[in-house]
Amino acid sequence: MKRKIFLIIFLLILLVIFYYRDKFSLILSNPGEFVDLLLETSQIAAFSLYALGLNLAIFILAAIIEIISIGWTNSSLKRMVSNRSKSTYGDIWCWALSIFNLYDLFVMLFSFGFFYVFTSLIVNNVYEIHLIDKINSPILVFILVFSISDFKHYVWHYFMHKRPFWELHKYHHSATEFNLITTTRSHFIEKGFLTVIDAFVFLLLGVPPEYFVLIAFAREFYAFILHADVNWSLGWVGKYIFISPRAHKIHHSKEEKHFGKNLGTFFIWWDLIFGTFLDTEEEIQIGVKDSTFNKSGFWNDMLIGTKEFANATLQMTFRNQKTSM
Ligand SMILES: [Zn+2]
Ligand SMILES: [Zn+2]
Repeated sequence: MKRKIFLIIFLLILLVIFYYRDKFSLILSNPGEFVDLLLETSQIAAFSLYALGLNLAIFILAAIIEIISIGWTNSSLKRMVSNRSKSTYGDIWCWALSIFNLYDLFVMLFSFGFFYVFTSLIVNNVYEIHLIDKINSPILVFILVFSISDFKHYVWHYFMHKRPFWELHKYHHSATEFNLITTTRSHFIEKGFLTVIDAFVFLLLGVPPEYFVLIAFAREFYAFILHADVNWSLGWVGKYIFISPRAHKIHHSKEEKHFGKNLGTFFIWWDLIFGTFLDTEEEIQIGVKDSTFNKSGFWNDMLIGTKEFANATLQMTFRNQKTSM
Protein backbone atom coordinates (compact mmCIF):
# COMPACT_ATOMS: atom_id res chain seq x y z
CA MET A 1 0.00 0.00 0.00
CA LYS A 2 2.88 2.38 0.87
CA ARG A 3 4.32 1.84 -2.60
CA LYS A 4 0.98 2.81 -4.17
CA ILE A 5 0.83 6.03 -2.13
CA PHE A 6 4.34 6.99 -3.27
CA LEU A 7 3.39 6.19 -6.87
CA ILE A 8 0.33 8.50 -6.61
CA ILE A 9 2.47 11.29 -5.06
CA PHE A 10 4.99 10.85 -7.89
CA LEU A 11 2.22 11.06 -10.53
CA LEU A 12 0.74 14.19 -8.87
CA ILE A 13 4.14 15.90 -8.91
CA LEU A 14 4.62 14.94 -12.58
CA LEU A 15 1.16 16.34 -13.44
CA VAL A 16 1.92 19.66 -11.69
CA ILE A 17 5.36 19.95 -13.36
CA PHE A 18 3.77 19.20 -16.74
CA TYR A 19 1.05 21.85 -16.21
CA TYR A 20 3.60 24.48 -15.19
CA ARG A 21 6.33 23.37 -17.62
CA ASP A 22 6.69 26.90 -19.11
CA LYS A 23 6.87 28.52 -15.68
CA PHE A 24 9.34 25.90 -14.42
CA SER A 25 11.76 26.66 -17.25
CA LEU A 26 11.48 30.35 -16.27
CA ILE A 27 12.11 29.46 -12.61
CA LEU A 28 15.30 27.60 -13.55
CA SER A 29 16.70 30.76 -15.14
CA ASN A 30 15.26 33.12 -12.49
CA PRO A 31 14.53 31.54 -9.06
CA GLY A 32 12.64 34.74 -8.02
CA GLU A 33 9.79 33.59 -10.33
CA PHE A 34 9.12 30.72 -7.92
CA VAL A 35 8.17 33.15 -5.12
CA ASP A 36 5.78 34.98 -7.49
CA LEU A 37 4.19 31.68 -8.55
CA LEU A 38 3.78 30.59 -4.92
CA LEU A 39 2.25 33.93 -3.86
CA GLU A 40 -0.18 33.88 -6.78
CA THR A 41 -1.34 30.26 -6.57
CA SER A 42 -1.58 30.14 -2.77
CA GLN A 43 -3.78 33.28 -2.55
CA ILE A 44 -1.28 34.87 -0.16
CA ALA A 45 -1.07 37.79 -2.60
CA ALA A 46 -4.81 38.37 -2.03
CA PHE A 47 -4.33 38.98 1.72
CA SER A 48 -5.79 42.29 2.86
CA LEU A 49 -5.84 44.03 6.21
CA TYR A 50 -9.43 45.08 5.45
CA ALA A 51 -10.58 41.43 5.19
CA LEU A 52 -8.60 40.54 8.33
CA GLY A 53 -10.31 43.42 10.19
CA LEU A 54 -13.76 42.26 9.01
CA ASN A 55 -12.98 38.69 10.05
CA LEU A 56 -11.94 39.81 13.52
CA ALA A 57 -14.96 42.12 13.80
CA ILE A 58 -17.49 39.36 13.08
CA PHE A 59 -15.69 37.00 15.48
CA ILE A 60 -15.81 39.65 18.24
CA LEU A 61 -19.52 40.26 17.55
CA ALA A 62 -20.26 36.51 17.77
CA ALA A 63 -18.13 36.24 20.97
CA ILE A 64 -20.04 39.13 22.61
CA ILE A 65 -23.40 37.51 21.75
CA GLU A 66 -22.17 34.22 23.22
CA ILE A 67 -20.85 35.83 26.45
CA ILE A 68 -24.14 37.71 26.96
CA SER A 69 -26.10 34.46 26.51
CA ILE A 70 -24.07 31.90 28.45
CA GLY A 71 -21.65 33.99 30.53
CA TRP A 72 -17.86 34.38 30.51
CA THR A 73 -17.17 31.14 32.43
CA ASN A 74 -18.74 28.96 29.72
CA SER A 75 -17.64 31.12 26.79
CA SER A 76 -15.41 30.17 23.86
CA LEU A 77 -13.20 33.18 24.48
CA LYS A 78 -12.38 31.96 27.99
CA ARG A 79 -11.49 28.50 26.65
CA MET A 80 -9.31 30.14 24.01
CA VAL A 81 -7.33 32.32 26.41
CA SER A 82 -7.05 29.94 29.37
CA ASN A 83 -7.17 26.15 29.86
CA ARG A 84 -6.78 25.40 26.15
CA SER A 85 -7.57 21.75 25.37
CA LYS A 86 -5.96 19.89 22.43
CA SER A 87 -9.24 20.37 20.52
CA THR A 88 -9.15 24.14 21.15
CA TYR A 89 -5.52 24.31 19.99
CA GLY A 90 -6.59 22.72 16.67
CA ASP A 91 -9.36 25.33 16.32
CA ILE A 92 -6.92 28.18 16.97
CA TRP A 93 -4.44 26.87 14.37
CA CYS A 94 -7.18 26.60 11.73
CA TRP A 95 -8.61 30.02 12.50
CA ALA A 96 -5.19 31.73 12.47
CA LEU A 97 -4.26 30.11 9.14
CA SER A 98 -7.59 31.09 7.59
CA ILE A 99 -7.66 34.75 8.70
CA PHE A 100 -4.08 35.29 7.51
CA ASN A 101 -4.86 33.67 4.11
CA LEU A 102 -2.40 30.85 4.70
CA TYR A 103 -4.83 27.93 4.33
CA ASP A 104 -4.47 27.70 0.56
CA LEU A 105 -0.69 27.56 0.86
CA PHE A 106 -0.95 24.42 2.98
CA VAL A 107 -3.72 22.98 0.77
CA MET A 108 -1.19 23.32 -2.04
CA LEU A 109 1.73 21.85 -0.11
CA PHE A 110 -0.31 18.90 1.19
CA SER A 111 -1.64 18.10 -2.30
CA PHE A 112 1.57 18.97 -4.21
CA GLY A 113 -0.35 21.67 -6.10
CA PHE A 114 -2.85 19.13 -7.47
CA PHE A 115 -6.06 21.00 -6.50
CA TYR A 116 -4.85 24.25 -8.03
CA VAL A 117 -3.99 22.54 -11.31
CA PHE A 118 -7.23 20.51 -11.32
CA THR A 119 -9.50 23.53 -10.69
CA SER A 120 -7.61 25.57 -13.33
CA LEU A 121 -8.18 22.73 -15.81
CA ILE A 122 -11.94 22.71 -14.99
CA VAL A 123 -12.32 26.50 -15.20
CA ASN A 124 -10.41 26.70 -18.49
CA ASN A 125 -11.83 23.65 -20.26
CA VAL A 126 -15.39 22.95 -19.11
CA TYR A 127 -18.32 24.71 -20.77
CA GLU A 128 -19.34 27.86 -18.88
CA ILE A 129 -23.00 28.78 -18.42
CA HIS A 130 -22.54 32.16 -16.64
CA LEU A 131 -26.14 32.42 -15.41
CA ILE A 132 -25.75 35.90 -13.95
CA ASP A 133 -24.92 37.42 -17.36
CA LYS A 134 -28.38 36.29 -18.52
CA ILE A 135 -30.33 37.88 -15.64
CA ASN A 136 -30.93 41.64 -15.46
CA SER A 137 -32.52 41.96 -12.00
CA PRO A 138 -29.84 42.51 -9.28
CA ILE A 139 -32.25 41.16 -6.61
CA LEU A 140 -32.76 37.95 -8.59
CA VAL A 141 -28.98 37.65 -9.03
CA PHE A 142 -28.50 38.07 -5.26
CA ILE A 143 -31.15 35.41 -4.45
CA LEU A 144 -29.70 33.05 -7.05
CA VAL A 145 -26.09 33.41 -5.86
CA PHE A 146 -27.14 33.05 -2.19
CA SER A 147 -29.29 29.94 -2.81
CA ILE A 148 -26.82 28.21 -5.13
CA SER A 149 -23.87 28.85 -2.82
CA ASP A 150 -25.90 27.47 0.11
CA PHE A 151 -26.97 24.40 -1.88
CA LYS A 152 -23.35 23.91 -2.93
CA HIS A 153 -22.38 23.72 0.76
CA TYR A 154 -25.12 21.14 1.36
CA VAL A 155 -23.99 18.93 -1.55
CA TRP A 156 -20.34 19.25 -0.61
CA HIS A 157 -21.13 18.44 3.05
CA TYR A 158 -23.22 15.43 1.94
CA PHE A 159 -20.19 13.96 0.15
CA MET A 160 -17.89 14.77 3.07
CA HIS A 161 -19.96 12.34 5.15
CA LYS A 162 -19.23 9.51 2.68
CA ARG A 163 -16.06 7.46 2.51
CA PRO A 164 -13.28 8.22 1.65
CA PHE A 165 -13.98 11.95 2.25
CA TRP A 166 -15.25 11.27 5.78
CA GLU A 167 -11.66 10.47 6.78
CA LEU A 168 -10.90 14.17 6.14
CA HIS A 169 -14.15 15.71 7.40
CA LYS A 170 -13.79 13.64 10.56
CA TYR A 171 -11.21 16.23 11.63
CA HIS A 172 -13.91 18.94 11.79
CA HIS A 173 -16.11 16.55 13.80
CA SER A 174 -13.28 15.56 16.14
CA ALA A 175 -13.74 18.87 18.00
CA THR A 176 -14.74 18.03 21.55
CA GLU A 177 -15.78 21.63 22.31
CA PHE A 178 -17.60 24.30 20.32
CA ASN A 179 -15.46 27.45 20.30
CA LEU A 180 -17.17 29.61 17.60
CA ILE A 181 -13.95 29.40 15.52
CA THR A 182 -14.52 25.62 15.32
CA THR A 183 -16.24 26.48 12.03
CA THR A 184 -12.81 27.08 10.44
CA ARG A 185 -11.54 23.70 11.65
CA SER A 186 -11.05 21.62 8.53
CA HIS A 187 -8.44 19.38 7.02
CA PHE A 188 -6.27 20.91 4.27
CA ILE A 189 -7.25 18.26 1.70
CA GLU A 190 -10.95 18.74 2.51
CA LYS A 191 -10.52 22.44 1.69
CA GLY A 192 -8.89 21.35 -1.58
CA PHE A 193 -12.00 19.38 -2.58
CA LEU A 194 -14.12 22.45 -1.82
CA THR A 195 -12.14 24.43 -4.42
CA VAL A 196 -13.07 21.77 -7.01
CA ILE A 197 -16.82 22.09 -6.37
CA ASP A 198 -16.39 25.91 -6.25
CA ALA A 199 -14.89 25.75 -9.77
CA PHE A 200 -18.10 24.14 -11.08
CA VAL A 201 -20.26 26.76 -9.31
CA PHE A 202 -18.09 29.46 -10.89
CA LEU A 203 -18.78 28.03 -14.37
CA LEU A 204 -22.50 27.85 -13.64
CA LEU A 205 -22.84 31.38 -12.18
CA GLY A 206 -20.04 33.27 -13.89
CA VAL A 207 -18.80 34.58 -10.53
CA PRO A 208 -17.17 32.89 -7.52
CA PRO A 209 -19.80 31.31 -5.22
CA GLU A 210 -19.10 33.85 -2.46
CA TYR A 211 -19.42 36.71 -4.97
CA PHE A 212 -21.13 39.22 -2.71
CA VAL A 213 -18.95 40.24 0.24
CA LEU A 214 -22.18 40.56 2.20
CA ILE A 215 -23.06 36.91 1.49
CA ALA A 216 -19.58 35.73 2.44
CA PHE A 217 -19.55 37.57 5.77
CA ALA A 218 -23.20 36.81 6.63
CA ARG A 219 -22.43 33.11 6.09
CA GLU A 220 -19.22 33.36 8.11
CA PHE A 221 -20.91 35.13 11.02
CA TYR A 222 -23.70 32.56 11.03
CA ALA A 223 -21.15 29.73 10.90
CA PHE A 224 -19.57 31.14 14.10
CA ILE A 225 -23.01 31.15 15.78
CA LEU A 226 -23.61 27.53 14.67
CA HIS A 227 -20.42 26.60 16.53
CA ALA A 228 -21.35 28.39 19.77
CA ASP A 229 -21.84 26.10 22.77
CA VAL A 230 -25.58 26.87 22.99
CA ASN A 231 -28.78 24.89 22.50
CA TRP A 232 -30.86 27.43 20.59
CA SER A 233 -33.38 25.63 18.39
CA LEU A 234 -34.92 28.96 17.20
CA GLY A 235 -38.54 27.68 17.33
CA TRP A 236 -40.36 27.56 13.99
CA VAL A 237 -37.55 29.57 12.33
CA GLY A 238 -35.18 26.66 13.11
CA LYS A 239 -37.74 24.18 11.77
CA TYR A 240 -38.54 25.85 8.46
CA ILE A 241 -35.98 28.57 7.57
CA PHE A 242 -32.51 28.50 9.12
CA ILE A 243 -30.44 25.65 10.45
CA SER A 244 -30.25 26.32 14.20
CA PRO A 245 -27.21 26.04 16.51
CA ARG A 246 -29.05 23.12 18.19
CA ALA A 247 -29.47 21.37 14.80
CA HIS A 248 -25.75 21.79 14.07
CA LYS A 249 -24.90 20.45 17.52
CA ILE A 250 -26.96 17.32 16.69
CA HIS A 251 -24.95 17.15 13.44
CA HIS A 252 -21.74 16.97 15.55
CA SER A 253 -23.16 14.27 17.87
CA LYS A 254 -21.03 11.22 18.72
CA GLU A 255 -24.06 8.96 18.31
CA GLU A 256 -24.25 6.82 15.18
CA LYS A 257 -28.01 7.48 14.79
CA HIS A 258 -27.34 11.24 14.42
CA PHE A 259 -24.65 10.78 11.76
CA GLY A 260 -25.20 12.62 8.45
CA LYS A 261 -28.19 14.60 9.75
CA ASN A 262 -28.67 18.40 9.52
CA LEU A 263 -26.08 18.88 6.77
CA GLY A 264 -27.16 22.44 5.95
CA THR A 265 -25.05 25.40 6.99
CA PHE A 266 -27.52 28.29 6.52
CA PHE A 267 -30.98 27.36 5.23
CA ILE A 268 -32.72 24.26 6.60
CA TRP A 269 -34.60 23.74 3.32
CA TRP A 270 -32.14 21.29 1.77
CA ASP A 271 -32.34 19.00 4.81
CA LEU A 272 -36.15 19.15 4.71
CA ILE A 273 -36.25 18.44 0.96
CA PHE A 274 -33.71 15.59 1.01
CA GLY A 275 -34.85 14.03 4.31
CA THR A 276 -31.72 14.66 6.38
CA PHE A 277 -33.37 16.95 8.98
CA LEU A 278 -33.41 15.63 12.56
CA ASP A 279 -34.70 17.20 15.77
CA THR A 280 -34.27 15.52 19.12
CA GLU A 281 -34.47 16.47 22.79
CA GLU A 282 -31.64 14.10 23.74
CA GLU A 283 -28.52 15.31 25.53
CA ILE A 284 -25.83 15.74 22.86
CA GLN A 285 -22.15 14.95 23.31
CA ILE A 286 -20.08 16.23 20.41
CA GLY A 287 -17.05 14.50 18.89
CA VAL A 288 -16.08 11.27 17.12
CA LYS A 289 -15.94 7.87 18.83
CA ASP A 290 -12.40 6.39 18.94
CA SER A 291 -10.94 9.50 17.30
CA THR A 292 -7.27 9.42 16.37
CA PHE A 293 -7.13 13.24 16.36
CA ASN A 294 -6.36 15.74 19.19
CA LYS A 295 -3.62 13.57 20.61
CA SER A 296 -0.37 14.69 19.08
CA GLY A 297 -0.81 18.27 17.86
CA PHE A 298 -2.33 20.07 14.88
CA TRP A 299 0.31 19.26 12.24
CA ASN A 300 0.32 15.60 13.15
CA ASP A 301 -3.49 15.62 12.87
CA MET A 302 -3.16 16.95 9.31
CA LEU A 303 -0.75 14.08 8.49
CA ILE A 304 -3.02 11.49 10.16
CA GLY A 305 -6.03 12.76 8.14
CA THR A 306 -4.04 12.64 4.88
CA LYS A 307 -2.84 9.10 5.60
CA GLU A 308 -6.30 7.81 6.58
CA PHE A 309 -7.84 9.43 3.48
CA ALA A 310 -5.15 7.90 1.23
CA ASN A 311 -5.67 4.46 2.83
CA ALA A 312 -9.47 4.64 2.48
CA THR A 313 -9.18 5.76 -1.17
CA LEU A 314 -6.76 2.95 -2.02
CA GLN A 315 -8.85 0.35 -0.17
CA MET A 316 -11.92 1.43 -2.12
CA THR A 317 -10.01 1.45 -5.41
CA PHE A 318 -8.31 -1.91 -4.92
CA ARG A 319 -11.04 -3.53 -2.84
CA ASN A 320 -10.18 -7.04 -3.91
CA GLN A 321 -6.49 -6.80 -3.25
CA LYS A 322 -4.91 -7.63 0.09
CA THR A 323 -3.75 -4.45 1.83
CA SER A 324 -0.88 -4.14 4.20
CA MET A 325 0.33 -0.92 5.78
ZN1 LIG B 1 -20.26 17.29 8.95
ZN1 LIG C 1 -19.54 22.09 12.27
